Amino acid sequence: MLPATPSLGIADSLLVSAGRMLGLPEDLVEILRHPKRELTVSIPVKMDSGTYRVFTGYRVHHNIARGPAKGGLRFHPQVTPEEIRELAALMTWKCAVVNIPYGGAKGGVVCDPSVMSKGEIERLTRRFVSELSIILGPDRDIPAPDVNTSEQVMAWILDTYSMTVGHSMLGVVTGKPIAVGGSLGRREATSRGVFSALHEAMAEVFPGKPAGEIRVAIQGFGNVGSNLARILHEEGFRLIALSDVHGGIRSDSGIDVPAALDYSASGGSIAGMPGCEEIDNQQLLAGPCDILVPAALGGQITERNARHVQAKLVVEAANAPITVEADEILRSRGVVVIPDILANAGGVVVSYFEWVQGLASYFWTEQMVNSRLEEIMRGAYCSVRNIADTQRCDLRTAAYLLAVGRVAEATRVRGIFP
Ligand code: NAD
Repeated sequence: MLPATPSLGIADSLLVSAGRMLGLPEDLVEILRHPKRELTVSIPVKMDSGTYRVFTGYRVHHNIARGPAKGGLRFHPQVTPEEIRELAALMTWKCAVVNIPYGGAKGGVVCDPSVMSKGEIERLTRRFVSELSIILGPDRDIPAPDVNTSEQVMAWILDTYSMTVGHSMLGVVTGKPIAVGGSLGRREATSRGVFSALHEAMAEVFPGKPAGEIRVAIQGFGNVGSNLARILHEEGFRLIALSDVHGGIRSDSGIDVPAALDYSASGGSIAGMPGCEEIDNQQLLAGPCDILVPAALGGQITERNARHVQAKLVVEAANAPITVEADEILRSRGVVVIPDILANAGGVVVSYFEWVQGLASYFWTEQMVNSRLEEIMRGAYCSVRNIADTQRCDLRTAAYLLAVGRVAEATRVRGIFP
């Protein structure tokens, strides 16, 4: 069983301070701190050797006041109930910031898919979904991809759930392959959303400066980092540093992004690309640039390196890449930070579009998806910016004021049953 205490992470402390600033009653904040429900399951899986192994899986619904629970599923050896609970809370606030009608959820299985066969991962997924089926469903809980869970895993989730109910149920999962109801534009949605937020902030942080003179460094060259690099390159920005888990590259005159995408696709890493200076991840974070985009892991900018960050604008494409202490240091140095719950919400926005399309059995063009995403991201950025201006606070505090205010209002008007 998961320990019965609320999350005590960053999202929790931001919720508590937002509740105080909004003047919410303490008992309401206490309700919002607690996950709505948590399920721990044992997943027996027949391995290729013929023996059975039992894996442990979790699914947490943090809050469903504004709609069904929404959030990814991850397969990773370091999955913990505390992390899943924290990430479920982040999803509640993220969905509320962009005003889509979802609550927050997250799930995970403690396993190492890198040492499992495709068949073992399929059997693990199907049994996990079967164990979760008592809380899943298009009106209840809609999973999506997360760390180490691909479109293929989403297709197995769709199929398993549909077999159980006896008919195809497209709305039960998002991030599916296009062939089974996935949305056009979903793969690069997070990066497009990051770009929209970054673009909105540019006018304030770099007034009058053309894109070609703005130097960008991106940590992480996976789905989010590489698509963002491509979009920024197409929009005329100067990408001067990129990195992944193996190392980084730097070129002050600007990296040839299409060449970097080809190099990384063929060799599996950006590190060692000819014509660029080699750097490590710490040098990337602390190197000269105007915009820094952490797009890899959580906890990358800490009290140890925050004083060395030279960027004027940091855009949190990753979830929680800046620790609480580092956030305070950046704020005191006047660095503008676009917080994760706003910056990387584009993925869940297009997941929402995918769910709507599946429920309606009416599929949109990629251009419709992209323009509606941009409209939502720009609107959310403006709402957060307005709160930051009127409350004289940073964007992270403003984003939590907006999100917590919306969830609190939904809870208040619904009333607490009975
Ligand atoms: P990914 O697995 O495709 O890519 C991760 C990248 O980070 C890889 O290039 C990897 O080499 C690099 N990396 C890993 N460890 C590193 C380290 N120690 N130092 C530097 N680089 C390292 O993941 P992704 O989908 O691109 O997600 C990136 C981040 O964005 C994650 O924090 C994720 O939670 C967040 N996010 C992703 C989405 C989405 O739609 N994919 C949505 C919201 C948030």
